[in-house]
Amino acid sequence: MKISAIVLAGGKGSRMNSDIQKQYLLLCGKPVLYYALQAFQHSSVDEIILVVGTGMVQNISEEEYCKKEFIDNCHFNKIKHIVMGGSERYDSVMNGLAAIHNDVDYILIHDGARPCITVELIERCIQDVIDCKACVAAVPVKDTIKVVDSKNYAVSTPDRSTLWQIQTPQCFEYNMIWKAYHNMAADTDKSNITDDAMVVEKYSDNKVKMTYSSYKNIKITTPEDLQIAKTFLFDKLSEDKTSVK
Ligand code: C5P
Repeated sequence: MKISAIVLAGGKGSRMNSDIQKQYLLLCGKPVLYYALQAFQHSSVDEIILVVGTGMVQNISEEEYCKKEFIDNCHFNKIKHIVMGGSERYDSVMNGLAAIHNDVDYILIHDGARPCITVELIERCIQDVIDCKACVAAVPVKDTIKVVDSKNYAVSTPDRSTLWQIQTPQCFEYNMIWKAYHNMAADTDKSNITDDAMVVEKYSDNKVKMTYSSYKNIKITTPEDLQIAKTFLFDKLSEDKTSVK
């Protein structure tokens, strides 16, 4: 059985208001992207496809920077391909999927901007995708959610017990996600496609299962997220040190 991971780092991260793309900002002394790559390197995933943007980091292309930083310096030898992203997240996923050979059985798609991912969560996702063909890391919502109109007045309040907050990894049988993405590519209306589970829900007959994740698996989006992730990573790094002793 062969399992591949696509780690997405092709976004610009404009909500971060930073000159450097958010995935390359330093967090506890390492680029944000380092932590997700490290978790996949230490998991039972066989290979990593890293999707990067077309911009520059430290005066070199993102591709060159990632080769130097993660393959040469960190020896993350599971990174088999570095491919260019596209203008939307789903374009980047499509480019990642196209780089995978058809002997792959399962694929895990992860946002490189989620540094608090753990090996334990990756392994739980792998078990679920083998059982169910399609699963996503997720947590039940804690807050009440409102649907609002264009002027921000509440329209309705969905039953909170049926709402989950979706994260990554999003995991699929390879042939199924490949076909679903191809069906999507033929559709002229791709508005509102914000994750891979939506592609499966809309363009295949498969159901997507929620894999219970952690509230710590946050996505770095705005500056305060870096502070929060720092706290979570500090806990994780301390636990790793304790378990080595
Ligand atoms: O923009 P957002 O934070 O939702 O992006 C989620 C992930 O998808 C990030 O890791 C980002 O780098 C990646 N992405 C991408 N290509 C894009 C847009 C986002 O790889 N065109």
